[in-house]
Amino acid sequence: MADSNADSAASSALIERIEPYLEADKIQARTAELGAALSAELPQDSPTVFVCVLNGSFMFYADLLKHITTPTNTAFLAVSSYEGGTKSSGAVRLTLDLTIDIAHRDVVIVEDIVDTGLTMSYLLESLRSRKPRSLRVCTLLHKPARKKIDVPIDHCGFTIDDVFVVGYGLDYDQRYRDLPFIGVMHFDPPA
Ligand code: 5GP
Repeated sequence: MADSNADSAASSALIERIEPYLEADKIQARTAELGAALSAELPQDSPTVFVCVLNGSFMFYADLLKHITTPTNTAFLAVSSYEGGTKSSGAVRLTLDLTIDIAHRDVVIVEDIVDTGLTMSYLLESLRSRKPRSLRVCTLLHKPARKKIDVPIDHCGFTIDDVFVVGYGLDYDQRYRDLPFIGVMHFDPPA
């Protein structure tokens, strides 16, 4: 529902409205819990590579890493599957690759949201082929209603409804990433 409304927003003069969904405090508290859970299972004697999936997870990644008490290496990659609107094009592309070798390393993929699972499935395949010692997935959000492919999720912040969300790193047309909370994007007809 949100999808079809969103996609017609550009052509007609619909008014964007963001309905609060997950408060900043709630996100921060859950992020601390995720950090503690990961820290409890990661090695103390070698740095774990934390992979930030740009662009959407930059804010979650930065906050999560503050709660990791084991040694870390930071690493960044970027994928693109959404071409500006609210629907995935289905084709996932790696637009920026890691600059470090993850062979024989412990690796955690930090993602903003698992929706259809296509992006995470692609990432897992790509990173697994580089032979890490271990590979974990930590996602802030999971939207199981739209699942197209099963992907293993080791740590999940919140399971959400079938809604299009923005804020806390997540965008609509590159906007709203700076919001400290997560909201549902609505497109209202003009009054
Ligand atoms: P998937 O490949 O699982 O369908 O989608 C993963 C990517 O789609 C996420 O990393 C995110 O960039 C984008 N995405 C999926 N659902 C939403 C949503 O509700 N809001 C926003 N802003 N992006 C989403």
